[in-house]
Amino acid sequence: MESRAATILVVEDEPFIATAIAQRLSAEGFRVEVARDGLAAVDAAARLEPDLMVLDIMLPGLDGLEVTRRVQAERPLPILMLTARDDETDMLVGLGVGADDYMTKPFSMRELVARIKVLLRRVERATTAATQHQAEAPLVMGDLSIDRAQRRVVRAGVEAHLTPTEFDLLVMLASSPKTVLTREQLLAEVWDWIDASGTRTVDSHVKALRRKLGADLIRTVHGVGYAFEPPLESQ
Ligand code: CA
Repeated sequence: MESRAATILVVEDEPFIATAIAQRLSAEGFRVEVARDGLAAVDAAARLEPDLMVLDIMLPGLDGLEVTRRVQAERPLPILMLTARDDETDMLVGLGVGADDYMTKPFSMRELVARIKVLLRRVERATTAATQHQAEAPLVMGDLSIDRAQRRVVRAGVEAHLTPTEFDLLVMLASSPKTVLTREQLLAEVWDWIDASGTRTVDSHVKALRRKLGADLIRTVHGVGYAFEPPLESQ
């Protein structure tokens, strides 16, 4: 149990599911707020500054993908996305726009709680790591600068807005330049858990990193994993 009750924003338009999730999370000791549509979710995320958001992808008004884009543009927020069964496209797009994890409906409440705790632990660990890196100079390679204390990334003078998961993945890859890391290694280190669809999760986040930082930084090693390619030193 976290020392302080984490606040979780639950975004779900189905009253039955929203209530069931809210009750279970309250019983687990979390502070819970529920939003029933996309605009209310964006508003509540700004107002409450929750520690995590559980977000249904199918919502009236703004859908979950648009909510993710808007919320992540304001500040990094761990997002666990709920998708319809087997809707893999939604899931992949969701991870690409900044969700950290996803679950397909129907899911068990026990599994939901477990995933939430893993995500919160990762954020806590990242905060601790940032403190440990406080005195360290940013990691600079060519036109890329990774500041682990501030958790900021700049490429060619432009700051890239990465989600917490994208940042952790980048640091993991960049810490071992030109070294192939398997998807399983990345999952174990960055995500803390492994499931059947997990390797797709890695792929989606790599895609997002390439979109935000340039396609040249991360090389795909087919059938194995990914390797970080340091940008060339500028002249
Ligand atoms: Ca829905």
